[in-house]
Amino acid sequence: MEELNNFKKYLDSKKRIVIKIGTQVLLNEDGKPSSSAFKNICDLSFSLIGQKKEVILVSSGAIAAGKDLLNINSELNNFSIPQKQAFAACGQAVLMRNYDSCFKRRGLKTAQILLTKEDISIRRRFTNARNTIYELLKNGVVPIINENDTVSYEEIKFSDNDHLSALVLNLVCADLLIILSNVKGVFDKNPNLYKDAKPVKIINDIKNYIKNFKETSKSLHGTGGMKSKLYASFIASSAGIDTIIMSGKDKKSLNSLIAGNLSGTLINSSINKINKKKHWLLFGMEKAGEIVADEGAIRAITYENKSLLAGGIIKIKGDFKKGDGIYIVNEDGALFSKGIANLDSGDIKKIKGLSSEEIKLKFGEDKISSLVVHKDKMVISVL
Ligand code: GLU
Repeated sequence: MEELNNFKKYLDSKKRIVIKIGTQVLLNEDGKPSSSAFKNICDLSFSLIGQKKEVILVSSGAIAAGKDLLNINSELNNFSIPQKQAFAACGQAVLMRNYDSCFKRRGLKTAQILLTKEDISIRRRFTNARNTIYELLKNGVVPIINENDTVSYEEIKFSDNDHLSALVLNLVCADLLIILSNVKGVFDKNPNLYKDAKPVKIINDIKNYIKNFKETSKSLHGTGGMKSKLYASFIASSAGIDTIIMSGKDKKSLNSLIAGNLSGTLINSSINKINKKKHWLLFGMEKAGEIVADEGAIRAITYENKSLLAGGIIKIKGDFKKGDGIYIVNEDGALFSKGIANLDSGDIKKIKGLSSEEIKLKFGEDKISSLVVHKDKMVISVL
């Protein structure tokens, strides 16, 4: 509760902030980009920068802005992925023009960064993106990130920009995530249906909160609802980073934040924090294959903090190399853990089900290790 008692001091301690802006924040009711909405975001960023903070924006809205540019009125669900990708290609330029002209009036420069999931999951690309963003911040430029919708096909797509913003936190080593939405925060029940719905000021155990949460609203023009925002804040909290979910449409709420008051919901990260390496394994790593393990092996890795050995393996799915990311599942396909393979899939196929002694007898001393995933390179999948 310390955060709520002295929110201004709490906010003062946050120096690098990622602000995620939802599509609906940037649109008027008629679905057209709203110039006052862009101005509000720039005012907020400008004020925070004035308070000696660094600001990184993750902005949605490209698909909606592109659809509007092409004078298309029909609902977004009626369009195929290539159509939406084409809208995004048109709309991304509209977004950047709007941001750039607002920031320019405030004497600030902007830069566009478009990311795919691989830019987070492949270490080399992650480091390149990080170095670029650091360089921009050093030069006082405001980075504006979106998913690279034009090239992101199903498997490499972030589920939505809420998810993307949470993964960007680790990329930029942020201290706070602010998710700006068209709702005023989290409510104890759907505020559109229940007049007595009460705002939730603080969530201390987000993992538990998500388990009991029923969706209260679906986004009209974007892809996420409240659940996806809560899930993003869960990813953030696993990295030890707090999230504020608040209205990005209501100027009063934005001004209140600038003045150092909380309006919206604060998701406290202290309970769910895990270390950086495990966070990457859990949320950033790309899957190259699956290992189906038996009950005994799953129990040993889940409850006894043991490594995965060949003896407990039933089946391998996919071709992967030593060092690739793999999921460990049970016979029903339920995910238990994620980790880095210690052997190529071809070798694992040869030794699956065998004990260390049997492997030695069959293939010779030190030829193939029985260690398939080391416990330090594995993380239990938590949700
Ligand atoms: N990248 C999409 C866009 O700019 C947004 C996805 C989302 O709504 O989260 O339109």
